[in-house]
Amino acid sequence: MSLTLDNTFTQLENFGHSLRASSYCFRPTRTEEIYEVFRLAKETGLTVTARGAGRSYNDASLNGGGIVLDMSAMDQILEWDPASGRVRCEPGVTLRQLWQRVEPDGWWPPVVSGTMKTTLGGCLAANIHGKNNFQKGPIGEHVMEFTAMLPSGTSITCTAEKNADLFYAMISGLGMLGVFTSITLQMKRIHSGLLSVDAWPVPNLSRHLRDLLDNAPHYDYIVGWLDATTGGKHLGRGQIHGARNLKDGEDPNAQQTMQLAYQHLPDRLFGVMPKSLLHYFMSPFLNNLGVWGINTPKYIPSARKHTFRQSHAEFHFLLDYVPNWERSFGRGGLIQYQSFLPRETAETAWREMIELSQRRGLPSYVGVTKRHRPDKFLLTHTVDGFSLAMDFKVTNKNRATLSKMLQDFDRIVLHAGGRFYFAKNSETSAEAARAFLGEETIVKFKKLKQCCDPNNLLESDLFRRVFG
Ligand SMILES: Cc1cc2nc3c(=O)[nH]c(=O)nc-3n(C[C@H](O)[C@H](O)[C@H](O)COP(=O)(O)OP(=O)(O)OC[C@H]3O[C@@H](n4cnc5c(N)ncnc54)[C@H](O)[C@@H]3O)c2cc1C
Repeated sequence: MSLTLDNTFTQLENFGHSLRASSYCFRPTRTEEIYEVFRLAKETGLTVTARGAGRSYNDASLNGGGIVLDMSAMDQILEWDPASGRVRCEPGVTLRQLWQRVEPDGWWPPVVSGTMKTTLGGCLAANIHGKNNFQKGPIGEHVMEFTAMLPSGTSITCTAEKNADLFYAMISGLGMLGVFTSITLQMKRIHSGLLSVDAWPVPNLSRHLRDLLDNAPHYDYIVGWLDATTGGKHLGRGQIHGARNLKDGEDPNAQQTMQLAYQHLPDRLFGVMPKSLLHYFMSPFLNNLGVWGINTPKYIPSARKHTFRQSHAEFHFLLDYVPNWERSFGRGGLIQYQSFLPRETAETAWREMIELSQRRGLPSYVGVTKRHRPDKFLLTHTVDGFSLAMDFKVTNKNRATLSKMLQDFDRIVLHAGGRFYFAKNSETSAEAARAFLGEETIVKFKKLKQCCDPNNLLESDLFRRVFG
């Protein structure tokens, strides 16, 4: 029976619930069904966007009026070899499925996002970075091979050597060149289910960035929490967490700590309150006074450096502790703005942005910093420097002024030689993309698109915004 559009029209949202689009949705379970969807798109003149778990903060997996290919049912781990640490998966496999499969055998995914709910297809399409980006690069550097289906129905296999142009463009290519159908990754050896974490406060932005830079070489992972609500001499104050893998023999209970029972995030807080209700209690704190109250004890300079052990799941997926935490931002949802800046210009640019947000009465309630290095992928978002991700609450009242401020941020970032991440920002314009990617990159991407997708079947709201 051939596919039809009947009864498939559904409204979808971005992760932050700040954007909506209705699309014809299909959920293939086999590669051949993807081709059927491409055929239908051609017949009906519609465009197609692949969607993983829909955890992008922006419109990357939205396609208003077009077809959305929900890849979440292609979720089988096809091969796992605990001797070599190689795993072959369908693209709808989530990071949660992956780490839960490999950790009991002494392995961990080489790069993970701050949530385990993302799919591997989505992670490759955005080329995600982790808290170890300065050392391990993005996830694409750990892909041994992938296969993808082009809109013509042709299946193509790529490695860093074979079809290398497509390897480096499809990873980071936001699903605009083809749809991943299988992915082979190399896992990373671990000798314990625990990480040793050092946490220490930093009094201002200058120290914050210096500590990230100077300390990164001593850790496997480093991340900073930045208080963007405070100005003056404390602007950019925060807390840094540096974590290292335990060496063989350092954890006497390694076999136990690598088991899932040890890693699971508890369902109840203090053993009593279901975490699913927690976001209701967080909402009242998402205002200037509430955030100041939460941040101040954490960031005061007298707080001392302390060391503790944390499970991998706890360290990496802190945000998953509170299911639906994004709901605490209220009905208008949230927008995340992440900028990547060279180490030489980051401090001045972020000072200007944070001050601007405070002056305009639009402070960010969550700020996260990381240390990065460049990579070779075509639409790369990283630099030799740092990133700062800031979450903003969206309301009907502030939507227009917030959008205007984020465009002003874009100008500051571009002036400072920075880059943007297509999985996060919702404002990046075609001009801004051209300015940071460069004409040569855009021409190369469009040429590859012409080869892979001559009828422009693969399009998303993001693609039209940035490359349209
Ligand atoms: C709480 C939270 C924390 C996060 N932390 C980080 C972080 O630390 N680092 C980081 O880099 N990102 C982070 N992200 C962003 C997230 O990792 C990316 O947006 C990722 O792409 C989402 O994966 P997904 O499966 O939800 O994909 P979706 O959001 O559904 O799609 C993302 C892109 O992938 C494409 N796509 C999906 N499946 C396929 C496929 N099979 N073939 C081809 N293209 C496909 C879509 O078309 C779209 O362009 C975070 C997001 C959240 C919500």
